[in-house]
Amino acid sequence: MKYSIILPVYNEQENLTSLFTRVNKVLQSLKKEYEIIFVNDGSHDKTKEILEDLHKKNNNIKVINFSRNFGHQTAVTAGLDFASGDAVAILDADLQDPPEILPKFFAKLNEGYEVVYAIRKKRKENIFKRVSYSLFYKILHMIASVDIPLDSGDFCVLSQRMVKTINSFPERNRFIRGLRSWAGFKQIGLEYDRDKRLAGTSKYGLKKLFKLAFDGIFSFSFIPLQIMFVLGSTSLFLSIIGIFWAIYMKFFTTAYNRVPGFATTTILIMFVGGLQLFSIGIMGEYLRRVYDEVKQRPQYIIESKIGF
Ligand code: UDP
Ligand code: MG
Repeated sequence: MKYSIILPVYNEQENLTSLFTRVNKVLQSLKKEYEIIFVNDGSHDKTKEILEDLHKKNNNIKVINFSRNFGHQTAVTAGLDFASGDAVAILDADLQDPPEILPKFFAKLNEGYEVVYAIRKKRKENIFKRVSYSLFYKILHMIASVDIPLDSGDFCVLSQRMVKTINSFPERNRFIRGLRSWAGFKQIGLEYDRDKRLAGTSKYGLKKLFKLAFDGIFSFSFIPLQIMFVLGSTSLFLSIIGIFWAIYMKFFTTAYNRVPGFATTTILIMFVGGLQLFSIGIMGEYLRRVYDEVKQRPQYIIESKIGF
């Protein structure tokens, strides 16, 4: 039995030593072979040097340095590509996911589950983040074609079989918690309290959060396209009624010329124009993903590897 821990890191210099100490303590208590894979996602602080030092002190530590910042989901993807353990854990590097609960997760894997994912019971984050997260997960849950469990992040333990399954998906713009659900097999969720970030600030800016949310929605649902169809056909239907109404008013009443209609016309033009741009935007999101797949670029570039 071998354990692998995947830790994506982006400018986490303040957290690395505590992170390593806590993760290492847990793994040593399990008394089995293990590896800790740090994926350095193009950090420009001291992360790279600190990780090199940690590897010199403990050769269970392996490091993958990316050539630039490719994003959290890509860092996790690289970790999964290189993880060789029979049980593979994915954790955030800011200690929001307490490593001390990992033995409980590993135990579930031994009961025959392929995935044990963590469900956030309480979030210690600001109200804006909590509300938007909860809204996003509810929408995703409603429209996704697979059942992606509410309030589950990437924090999880996977069997090697599951890791191989996820690695066999060639798609880009990955939403790993969705791919994990999509793969199926026996999965179970365990609740935990999500801690505050130990030090530093969040590395998920608004742009990255939106990208993640969009990847979740557009990679796992066609409902936005169907909504476009419904909105388009409704406005077409209403405009046909409008045509008949206008003809009637013009030829069968004397009221037609008295209808000023300037505001109505402007609003209608804006409405239809907005609807069209909105729909093109949604189509663009799908098209962008198709284009990304066609280009066939690698998902990440490795600058150097240590310990492999
Ligand atoms: N991260 C990464 N690349 C990025 C952004 C984040 O590898 O481009 C890592 C980060 O170091 C952390 C994890 O992803 O280990 C989660 O990020 P963070 O804690 O900043 O997100 P939040 O918890 O605020 O949503
Ligand atoms: Mg965090």
